[in-house]
Amino acid sequence: MTIRPLVILPDPKLRLVSEPVATITDEIRKLADDMLETMYDAPGVGLAAIQIGVPLRVVTMDVSKTENEHQPMVLINPEIVWASDEKRVYEEGCLSIPEYYEEVERPDRVRFRYMSLQGETIEQEAAELMATCVQHEIDHLNGILFIDYLSKLKRDRVVTKFKKAAKREVGGA
Ligand SMILES: [Zn+2]
Repeated sequence: MTIRPLVILPDPKLRLVSEPVATITDEIRKLADDMLETMYDAPGVGLAAIQIGVPLRVVTMDVSKTENEHQPMVLINPEIVWASDEKRVYEEGCLSIPEYYEEVERPDRVRFRYMSLQGETIEQEAAELMATCVQHEIDHLNGILFIDYLSKLKRDRVVTKFKKAAKREVGGA
């Protein structure tokens, strides 16, 4: 397993629409392993493949509450098949937008379908943190970021901040 560098705002890769995985190969299994390692190292509760620069529809998540009890999930080609009318506000962050947190309103509960690494199709219902996380990660597969749900003013402010930081890094200062 390898910890891979994270793609950070305003990298245009974050706006790509990722491609479905056709077959689960060793390469996909290795990608999932690296994603889990990178996610735990960050640390984060969810990661989409594009966040390490791979435009494939693969997501890793672990929303277990205790630190010693990992519950890693690997979702291949995940999609939301149902969302509740009730909404819930949750403070979100993103490994590609480090140290920035804002409240986002999303459906409270969702049902989602995905393929496991073993090739089974699984349908599952999620609430609370898992519901927020799976919606946030599937958004990444479609080039959508949580800041897209904020007011234009807030979004522009955070994008400008990260653009400036990226420029400083290129300048070597
Ligand atoms: Zn994210």
